[in-house]
Amino acid sequence: MGELKKEDVEKYLENNPQFAKDYYDRKLRGEAVGALFNNKQLNLKDGVSFHDLTKLEETDILLELVWEIQNASNMEKTIHKVLQRLALFLQASYCSLFLCRSRNGIPELATRLFNVTKDSKFEDNLVAPESEIVFPLDIGIVGWVAHTKKTFNVPDVKKNTHFSDFADKQSGCTTSNLLATPIMFGKEVLAVIMAINKQNAPAFSKEDEAIFTKYLDFIAIVLQQHHINYLHGVESRKSQILLWCANKVFEELTDIERQFHKALYTVRIYLNCERYSVALLDMTKEKEFYEQWPILLGEVPPYKGPKTPDGREVNFYKIIDYILLGKEEIKVIPSPPVDHWSLVSGLPTYVAENGFICNMMNAQADEYFIFQKGPVDETGWAIKNVLSLPIVNKKEEIVGVATFYNRTDGRPFDEYDEQITETLTQFLGWSVLNTDTYDRLNKLENRKDIAQEMLMYQLQCTPHELQTILVNVVILFFQPWTETEMWCLTKAMKEELPDPTALELYEFHFSDLPVSEHELIKSGIRLFVELNAVEKFKVPAEVLTKWMYTVRKGYRDITYHNWRHGFNVGQTMFTLLMTGKLKKYYSDLEAFAMVAAAFCHDIDHRGTNNLYQMKSAAPLAKLHGSSILERHHLEFSKTLLEDESLNIFQNLNKRQFENVIHLFEVAIIATDLALYFKKRTMFQKIVDATEQMQSDDERIKYIITDQTKKEIIMAMMMTGCDLSAITKPWEVQSKVALMVANEFWEQGDLERTVLQQQPIPMMDRNKAEELPKLQVGFIDFVCTFVYKEFSRFHKEITPMYDGLQNNRVQWKTQADAYDEKMKALEELNKKHENDVGVKKGTEGREDNGPTKSKTCTVL
Ligand SMILES: [Zn+2]
Repeated sequence: MGELKKEDVEKYLENNPQFAKDYYDRKLRGEAVGALFNNKQLNLKDGVSFHDLTKLEETDILLELVWEIQNASNMEKTIHKVLQRLALFLQASYCSLFLCRSRNGIPELATRLFNVTKDSKFEDNLVAPESEIVFPLDIGIVGWVAHTKKTFNVPDVKKNTHFSDFADKQSGCTTSNLLATPIMFGKEVLAVIMAINKQNAPAFSKEDEAIFTKYLDFIAIVLQQHHINYLHGVESRKSQILLWCANKVFEELTDIERQFHKALYTVRIYLNCERYSVALLDMTKEKEFYEQWPILLGEVPPYKGPKTPDGREVNFYKIIDYILLGKEEIKVIPSPPVDHWSLVSGLPTYVAENGFICNMMNAQADEYFIFQKGPVDETGWAIKNVLSLPIVNKKEEIVGVATFYNRTDGRPFDEYDEQITETLTQFLGWSVLNTDTYDRLNKLENRKDIAQEMLMYQLQCTPHELQTILVNVVILFFQPWTETEMWCLTKAMKEELPDPTALELYEFHFSDLPVSEHELIKSGIRLFVELNAVEKFKVPAEVLTKWMYTVRKGYRDITYHNWRHGFNVGQTMFTLLMTGKLKKYYSDLEAFAMVAAAFCHDIDHRGTNNLYQMKSAAPLAKLHGSSILERHHLEFSKTLLEDESLNIFQNLNKRQFENVIHLFEVAIIATDLALYFKKRTMFQKIVDATEQMQSDDERIKYIITDQTKKEIIMAMMMTGCDLSAITKPWEVQSKVALMVANEFWEQGDLERTVLQQQPIPMMDRNKAEELPKLQVGFIDFVCTFVYKEFSRFHKEITPMYDGLQNNRVQWKTQADAYDEKMKALEELNKKHENDVGVKKGTEGREDNGPTKSKTCTVL
């Protein structure tokens, strides 16, 4: 072989481009390196090998890398450059960056820069949030590196037990050998860098490892700087939230919703998410009696769904949805349907049930929680990543679930987001306790107000007043101890008290109008004597008298809901039991309690309804959430019984007394007409069932063996009593209806003057002429069912239904007459308008204005 000429080499290289490429790749031209560094030229001689280069020019490369790092604004971009360099120096096919993070307390690695080659584009290597490949630490060599925090040189992945071909399958590449190392921050793994497939050699060498480690220092600096910046951001968000919370925790203690709302809205920018929602949980542990009835009757299966750890049914009563993306908006969804997009996945329910923090990436792909696919509403927004946390109060009860959606950078929420949102939800939990305490204080205060109001208004029956009822001194001061003495006392009382036959106390058509209010107190006592309650339950005559007198005084002197109404309801209850023969389903004690509760059912009524209490923010409305007045009547009645000198049930044992109080509760709350519609089908079913039965014994057995049925019938009896005025003879009904109407109109006046609101027609005295029409509507819509069903249940009650039907005819006649009148007026009006029109046509435009008003006065 002769001397090698320059031309020959040139010719050879031209004919063998692959060799030329490999050669330069291997031998690394200084110009090429320089070109990689912002066009800075490195002055390298031709044909200098990498080993020669490392001595001199590498210093330059390193300096330039330092320069790059100092000016780094984009962590990924800087690392991308270093990885390109690494791919070149190591002659690796690819280099990749896996970032470490933690969700739900479990660390994981996600691809951030994937398959970087010596000349691949940054944009092609940067992994978008939705295409991340995520490894738990127990999967793949990358996971193993992060787990052991050690560098690994794997000459043949097939021989390595930790290797997973998951990423290969995703990318379509085949990994043969690799070099991987963790990037640390103290004891924490920030990332794993991996070089894959050594070119022109079966594996990476010891020398490669050294180069690898050296260049990774740059990556470590960039990553650490980035991480510190990120932590700084996290800390400042957290401290902003904490600062705000600390400031607000003792303020704004109005109600939970307002408190949550204020907190969540104020800190929204620190939450770094596109949208979040708070689902508030119903805190009631026990259902109301009328809600339990359908379950006890077996009509509705008992609740078997998820429950909170403290045993409440998971029931979200409200969702507040905060939209931060685009136009900010807050949506409040009361009583959200179960298929509402924020609930349908079942995740909030799961969180409410278990109290776990759930941090999910790519929620749409989850198999357990099925989130709504695609846009959730008209904004076009769709769910990607979800972070859901329970809001727990200091009593460890879950009061709601906060769910955060889609971190603003598109990445999944990480441990720091978990920490920040947990700080917030913890604060929300405390604030609940605070509002709770406040509510309690407030309630106590309101109770005090009400108690004072009660005391002011309520003067107990004086000895003098007592004597006006029972003049017999022997009765007053003689406490009977034996059966005979008791019998004597009852006999003496009967002689002093009104005659039930004369007053028609056993009749459905009884009218209080001819009876004085004072006489009604005596009549009330008489009813208990008739029930045999005084004798059987050893009610001291003085106590019964004082109680009855005090109940009377408990009623205010208002237009309709006064003592007369209270008495009527008690009398009707008595008549339903005795004349209506409903007593056979109840014990003597129950009958005693039912009549007593009926007398008390509207005690301390203010002449305005529940809605007015709410609208006028009355102390009562703050005390009770629903059935405001009814709960007050109940509390008032129970307060009276707490005073031993008024406790007509003082000689009962504890169990009996508790039973009486329970019946009081059911009976009095049942008079809330809002609950009437909840109980009517249940009552109808009982009536249907008994109608099919052959014997009375069978009917009695069917009812008395089931406490729920007894309570439903009792509740319906209370409604029947409360509305009984509508069944009275026309002379009575027409008068009472006017009293009711007058009380409504008085409320309407208050609404106009105090609340500055237009009252509904029923309460508008300007629409007084519509009363007959309203009465017909009330009869058809509410009353007919009650008395029709009771007549079907017990034919003895038919007089009430007959009375009702008679009154309907009367009201209908009046309503029709009013309609006729209105129609006639309207026609007259039309005719007149036409006349005026004709006149105007003839007389021209002269008489506008005053003439018109004059003609109106004619009408
Ligand atoms: Zn009433």
